Amino acid sequence: MVKVLDFDEYSEDEEWSPPRRHLPPPPISRTKTLFLDLDRTLIHAYGGKPPIDYPYHFIVNVPTNERKKHLYYVTKRPGMDEFLRGAAELFEVVIFTAANEPYASRIVDKLDPEGRLISHRLYRDSCLPGRRGGFVKDLSGLGRDLKDVLIVDDKPQSYSLQKANGIPVAPFNGTNRDDRQLWWVAAILEKAITFDDVRNAVALYLAEKGDLDAANCNGPTIWNPRHVVASRTQEN
Ligand SMILES: [Mg+2]
Repeated sequence: MVKVLDFDEYSEDEEWSPPRRHLPPPPISRTKTLFLDLDRTLIHAYGGKPPIDYPYHFIVNVPTNERKKHLYYVTKRPGMDEFLRGAAELFEVVIFTAANEPYASRIVDKLDPEGRLISHRLYRDSCLPGRRGGFVKDLSGLGRDLKDVLIVDDKPQSYSLQKANGIPVAPFNGTNRDDRQLWWVAAILEKAITFDDVRNAVALYLAEKGDLDAANCNGPTIWNPRHVVASRTQEN
């Protein structure tokens, strides 16, 4: 049984301050922005010592308030490295997580060690408190037109203020090596980059989810290089 860590839950006794939300303008070459959730969307983190056969990729050591450190055993979702590389070719990629910075920043450092794929990071202090607990990631007021913004998150509540911009994924539990959710998301993103309003692409391709599953989610490669090259050519 995998221990479940839910960093998206808001506790009532937590101190709250207005969200910290500073993002510079997106790069001209990649005017569309992809916000990616972290926990259970790109990775799964197991707190403490996992079972001996737990398939983790790396460990992060996170300091706690009591001057102790806590180990997290982190598993990348299948296809994650390729997904991030492909996404960064097409989009400005921003990690938007409800987790705290000391924990999340150490994981993102491992996912993008050279800092070339992920342009910015937004942590818990950039989220709004949800009405029934949890966190909401408000995509407005970030200096990006909502027609150019997508978010991928395993919790629809996270993008409840801009539902049309959200691509849902099933939560990754750390052990399912047959998981193909990122293949499916990549197929949507390849199409969305060609739309003037990405929300139309989301609506269209969510309606065709079954077809996408069948057509695009079973191959060994997440991204179709032809799409990426075509996109680059359009930009230049
Ligand atoms: Mg999540």
